[in-house]
Amino acid sequence: MNLSSTPRFIAQAPWAFYNPVKLNVGRGCRRRLVEQLRGKTILVVTTQRGRRQFSEDSILSELITSSQVVWVDTVTENPGLSMLQADIDRLKYVEHYDAAVAFGGGSAMDAAKSINTALAKECKELTLAELLSNPSTHASALPKPLYTIATTAGTGSEVTPFATVWDHEQKKKLSLSSHAVWPTEAFVDAELTDSVPLETTISTGLDALNQAAESVWNKNANSITLVYATRALRLGFDALPKLAAGQGTQVERDKMAEASVLAGLAISHTRTALCHSISYPLTAHFGVPHGLACAFTMPYVLVHNLAADDGRFKDLSLALTGSEDCAELVRSFEKLHDLLDVRNRVKRMIPSLEQLFALESEMHTPGRSDNNLVDVENVEALLRQSWGQ
Ligand code: NAD
Repeated sequence: MNLSSTPRFIAQAPWAFYNPVKLNVGRGCRRRLVEQLRGKTILVVTTQRGRRQFSEDSILSELITSSQVVWVDTVTENPGLSMLQADIDRLKYVEHYDAAVAFGGGSAMDAAKSINTALAKECKELTLAELLSNPSTHASALPKPLYTIATTAGTGSEVTPFATVWDHEQKKKLSLSSHAVWPTEAFVDAELTDSVPLETTISTGLDALNQAAESVWNKNANSITLVYATRALRLGFDALPKLAAGQGTQVERDKMAEASVLAGLAISHTRTALCHSISYPLTAHFGVPHGLACAFTMPYVLVHNLAADDGRFKDLSLALTGSEDCAELVRSFEKLHDLLDVRNRVKRMIPSLEQLFALESEMHTPGRSDNNLVDVENVEALLRQSWGQ
């Protein structure tokens, strides 16, 4: 390292950073959760698969005997508004609990955030749809403490104040977002991700990398988010291809777990940008897994944003490739895309490019696409490039 080189300074408007989630990272760190919750009544929100993993886990299973557990194990992938409302209605006037535990991937974590917020006494008279449509209805609510345990690497949802809720009837992605949604404490224990199957490892890993990238090419980026996002990308660009090739060890799982939470910390401030905005209808209409849907356009959105380089892309290029030449940075993104066969994985789930064009009006999500460094009026060219035409 050349210690005499001067760090590039990127001029910014006055900025702030806030994230109140207490964070625990590392294999075995979930033991600390057991110590805190022993003897309490806990609401555990998870999938049926997650309930089995929790119950058979050498550390967490102790909570089943030492605490009173109220299970919500009805979560499914991309949790839907009506199912969540059914859970909320069932729990509303019946159950008391001291703390909520979210156990799983982003789907379980976002379900737990939604249910726990809706069960706060300030929100009990409102439906989840009403809470989603008006953040001021829950911004000052005081839900029970929420402990998040990630079993994928991942969404970073364990450290963000957002919960994605899918309106499957209207084929729309909704977001619950306010101070009330912040988890209290997060546990990122890569041991829990060792069992993730290959396809889910790829799609969730791509989500982490895309979130980090979208935090870089984001109008809300600042010195803290850029550091988190850059390290997330360095770890992920190294580890994910090895895991995808079946050559990953625990070290690669550890790296992805860290990449995922760092990306989560970055987007907890910046939020995401254009790739995410384009991705939502791909998931809502064709069921493309979230991470793959986000990564579909990633190299092309990068090229688009290079026009606004204020030095951040040269820094990123140096960190990822050892060269400040952004052509190298683009090549590294294209290489990752090819190695993980992102284009074909997505194309297998979508009948034709024309069907994507037909959804263009749904690809501009306020609060996401407008975070992009460079504004994009028409995404057709990006879709065409991503499709390989
Ligand atoms: P997921 O939670 O839907 O999980 C994918 C699949 O992996 C599921 O079938 C799940 O049961 C399985 N799985 C999870 N952990 C496993 C393990 N340890 N071993 C074996 N199988 C396991 O997928 P995800 O990508 O983690 O989350 C996606 C959801 O998160 C989407 O709805 C997305 O919109 C949302 N999201 C939220 C945020 C946020 O900040 N709130 C950020 C990104 C994405």
